[in-house]
Amino acid sequence: MRVYLSVDMEGVTGLTDPEEMHHGGRGYERGCEFMTGDANAVIRGAFAAGATQVLVNDAHGSTRNLRIDQLDSRATLIRGPGKPHRMGQGLTEGFDAAIFAGYHARAGVSHGVLNHTWMGKEIQNVWLNGEICGETRLVAAYAGFVGVPVVLVTGDVAVCEEAREVLGDVETVAVKQGIDMFAAELLPIAVAQRKIEESTFTALNRLPDFRPYVIEPPYTLEVEWNSTAIASACAIIPGTRRKSARNTEFTTPDYREIMALFGLYAMIAGQVACGSGVYG
Ligand SMILES: [Zn+2]
Repeated sequence: MRVYLSVDMEGVTGLTDPEEMHHGGRGYERGCEFMTGDANAVIRGAFAAGATQVLVNDAHGSTRNLRIDQLDSRATLIRGPGKPHRMGQGLTEGFDAAIFAGYHARAGVSHGVLNHTWMGKEIQNVWLNGEICGETRLVAAYAGFVGVPVVLVTGDVAVCEEAREVLGDVETVAVKQGIDMFAAELLPIAVAQRKIEESTFTALNRLPDFRPYVIEPPYTLEVEWNSTAIASACAIIPGTRRKSARNTEFTTPDYREIMALFGLYAMIAGQVACGSGVYG
């Protein structure tokens, strides 16, 4: 049994503060250790359930957050930027199950701790084939494109609700209950990671229950930006249309292009946002 694990950071056990999400921020290094701890909990549960391989993809920010020196040595790690399939890098047809750990609610969910979609503030909303879309739906659809079911999502209560709304019968572990965007009631680290390990074991033991999350092609990605300047810059990319002042749209029969395009959008939006001087 081959298991794929995509690890984001905002939904990691014990973390609530944007400073903890960025290299150089207060608490970041400790946050990386907690993130690695959540990944290790999945890896332990997976091997206990009979996994023969666990491939871990660092899916947050710089994608250089997970501590390879602390990672369970039975797993391998994809690390570093320049990955065309971004949060789904390395996920291929050969895997039996996908797990998302440390995930967070989409932008605009009031009790979602550190809620956002792909970028911290530049993106207001994303729709995939007309349906509102956070990172859980986005990456689950990629897993579905390559025929792999998502069996477990971990993060705060809000992302667990979002995962069940999108995927139906999926295992979830809520390691914190959001109070506001930057405040939450936390489970102790050991308790949260024990739950992650147990739920991984449970999910993989009922693998035949899960079906890949399949969206019918073609795939249309609409993004509502918070700036008309970002919308016009992204609309320069061939294939991307300016749908309205703030919104861009892109359609493709190949979902891998959606994953790649998101990375490109983020690069452009980051540059426009810096260049404008509006965001400091
Ligand atoms: Zn994220």
